[in-house]
Amino acid sequence: MKRVKIMGVFFHSVTLEQACMKIKQFLLDRGNHVVVTPNTEIVMMAQKDSELRKIINQSHLAVADGIGVVWASKHLGQPLPERVAGFDLMDYILRQGKDKGYRIYLLGGKPGVAEKAAKNIHSRYPGIQVVGCHHGYFSKEEEQQVIDDINLRKPQFLFVAMGAPKQEKWIFKHKDELEVKVSMGVGGSLDVLSGEVKRAPKTFRNLGLEWLYRLVTQPSRIVRMMALPVFVLKVLITNKNRERVNNR
Ligand code: UDP
Repeated sequence: MKRVKIMGVFFHSVTLEQACMKIKQFLLDRGNHVVVTPNTEIVMMAQKDSELRKIINQSHLAVADGIGVVWASKHLGQPLPERVAGFDLMDYILRQGKDKGYRIYLLGGKPGVAEKAAKNIHSRYPGIQVVGCHHGYFSKEEEQQVIDDINLRKPQFLFVAMGAPKQEKWIFKHKDELEVKVSMGVGGSLDVLSGEVKRAPKTFRNLGLEWLYRLVTQPSRIVRMMALPVFVLKVLITNKNRERVNNR
């Protein structure tokens, strides 16, 4: 798979459908495969957090979750084909897995959220088996118990919704202990699937304005979103420097 580098962070150049096909292949291979879905905020986090950068760059699949990343890839002359939002990838997997009876485990969210999401998944994607759930507020001492529970229930997919970069770090730290085929960080997706939080309407998503909807409905995200203008500026500066070198 071709990879595109944006500010030191590597993305696989895939569409949503190609990402899903890759994931299907992971199910046939041995071992646990790590899937990450960085957006601009995460790319900015990865500038200062070398552990996070290493995790993304070593993942089996890294897709661009955000119009900002796709814009940057075009601006830097290596266009990614499209935005592949974590939520859409999870939805695609669940839709595809209905008749195959995929076994999934939901880890994360406040107590009760994963269970509510499981109920909705069972009715929205009949055939999918949610084999286990656990909230995302466990202590270090409880960690082994959580891993044992996941392994006991034998899911193929582990969806971890503990926010970035916590979920990516947790998955990476335990990837060899987790007896699953695919581990993927899904941020606030369980909040959406449980009905606790509404996703941006389709018009916002199609216009690449999901971030604006989230900002208006969750104003506390403003601090995190300040990373976006800095990201845009950095891309523009990098591009200017690139042009200067090319013109020499
Ligand atoms: N969360 C969790 N454990 C923690 C911190 C957060 O399970 O220690 C959950 C939180 O309840 C929420 C999700 O992680 O459901 C974070 O959602 P957010 O929309 O912030 O995700 P991001 O934008 O970081 O992907």
